[in-house]
Amino acid sequence: MVITTIPAEAREQTIACHECDLLVSYPKLEPGNVVVCPRCDYVLTKKHNNAMERILAFALSGLIFLLLSSLYPFLSFSTNGHGREVTLLQSIDVLANEQQVLLALMILVVILIIPAAFLMGVLYVIGSLKYRSTLPPQGKQILRFILMLAPWSMVEIFLIGTMVSLVKIASLATITLGMSFWAYILFTVLMTLVLLHLDKVEVWQWVEDSAA
Ligand SMILES: [Zn+2]
Repeated sequence: MVITTIPAEAREQTIACHECDLLVSYPKLEPGNVVVCPRCDYVLTKKHNNAMERILAFALSGLIFLLLSSLYPFLSFSTNGHGREVTLLQSIDVLANEQQVLLALMILVVILIIPAAFLMGVLYVIGSLKYRSTLPPQGKQILRFILMLAPWSMVEIFLIGTMVSLVKIASLATITLGMSFWAYILFTVLMTLVLLHLDKVEVWQWVEDSAA
């Protein structure tokens, strides 16, 4: 019996396609490489250039813009000489006062709490992998949690919803978009960039490499 040892860098990885369950083997990837399922064309994994640095930079700036978006007026509207400015949190509060407590709570969780928890989790785990080459305490559980949260981020849906209601209100009142509105747009862009660079397969590969 012949036993051969394949060096780690030449070893093939195997992954099951998320969409059609086909088992696909691929060699060690170089930055820029993409592994696509040969049967259904689903993108299995993608190795970005400087992925860790980019994720950390996008996540940190995203968190700052999310914080800024809750500090300043989100939008102001005026009709017949009466004006009112509302912040992001006040607009949620307005809903709560109109007996829609559950809806207000859901919006608060979806547009602020989940994204904030997600970005902080990303900074905590990826930051530690990058600068200490090891998982932080509870790192595995937090990583599983952020990867589970990722598909539930609905920030862009919230933004589209806001735009649709703005178009409706625009016929009744004059609307001015505030600082927070623009901060939230920038946050949405940064959040999307984090999600685009956070490849599940690659992230677990970093964890494995850090343990080696
Ligand atoms: Zn497939």
